[in-house]
Amino acid sequence: MIVEMKTGAPREDVDALVEKVKSFGWDVQMNIGTDKTVVAILGNNTGQVSTDIFAVLPGVETVTRIMKPYKLASREVKTDDSLVSVDGVEIGSKRVVVIAGPCAIESEEQLTQAAQAIQNSGARILRGGAFKPRTSPFSFQGLEEDGLRLLAQAKKQFGLPVDTEVVDPRDVDKVAAVADILQVGTRNMQNYTLLTAVGRTQRPVILKRGFASTVSEWLTAADYLLAEGNNQVILCERGIRTFETSTRFSVDIGAIPVIKKSSHLPVLVDPSHAAGHYSLVPAIAKAAIAAGADGLLIEVHPNPKEALVDGLQSLTLSDFDQLMGELKQIAKAIGRDI
Ligand code: PEP
Ligand code: MN
Repeated sequence: MIVEMKTGAPREDVDALVEKVKSFGWDVQMNIGTDKTVVAILGNNTGQVSTDIFAVLPGVETVTRIMKPYKLASREVKTDDSLVSVDGVEIGSKRVVVIAGPCAIESEEQLTQAAQAIQNSGARILRGGAFKPRTSPFSFQGLEEDGLRLLAQAKKQFGLPVDTEVVDPRDVDKVAAVADILQVGTRNMQNYTLLTAVGRTQRPVILKRGFASTVSEWLTAADYLLAEGNNQVILCERGIRTFETSTRFSVDIGAIPVIKKSSHLPVLVDPSHAAGHYSLVPAIAKAAIAAGADGLLIEVHPNPKEALVDGLQSLTLSDFDQLMGELKQIAKAIGRDI
């Protein structure tokens, strides 16, 4: 931490600060300028103490942390890329992974048609929501247990690993009994009780970025999963809220290289929730691969016009098939494959 004293702060204020620092067993490095004194606090566990402890002292102007708030998700802790193995499908390798399927599981027929089609087009993991976190309590909340049952059936029938969201810590065991990947949605990125419960399952997890969260807050949330000894964490950029309204959310493509630099965890992009409209999904998906994403999470529906949730942003089976062909070329251009 770096403490900048106010211009002309008296010597007693600086001494009081130093004494406070020493009370934690830490050291200081003083930088005494003509008008200002800057004090660097040196210690290997300064992250455990709030900056407020020093900010409230008389004569202190600002206190700045130089250590990142996240640890286990950071590249400083683990320098090599993490690979997450989902029932044999590796995420984070040279091979880009596409996860696709309906937003919500609606019926056996809908899920089966989607699973068959996405598998034929080259997707390697099936997604489908059984518990849906809806903005309104009056909207369709998902088929819940019946949805999980259909998902388990599709997994068996097609031999595809499955990804589904868990919204409530009380449902974690029930969802984990079926899901190969537990998805934590954007609205729950900072639900720490849920993160801890999901972390304990030791099951692969997709942690979506909170739509109003910084990359740093996102990686700090990932620490909750990693702190439970669960190393199988996959991040997913799905767009953030900005002043722009022409897309549902603004996809932060820049977050991909930022994650690659700051973290060892694999990162996916969900172009569907970012776009909000099917016509925008292919371009965002291609940009994500070109920018270095390890995979995509795409909503696909056999009949988007009849979809109970997110029909406008869902690709038809044939549009998805065409997109997969185009993505192969993008992956090839950057030395990867799908
Ligand atoms: C989803 O993937 O269906 C979903 C609800 O996504 P998000 O949490 O990103 O809104
Ligand atoms: Mn959706």
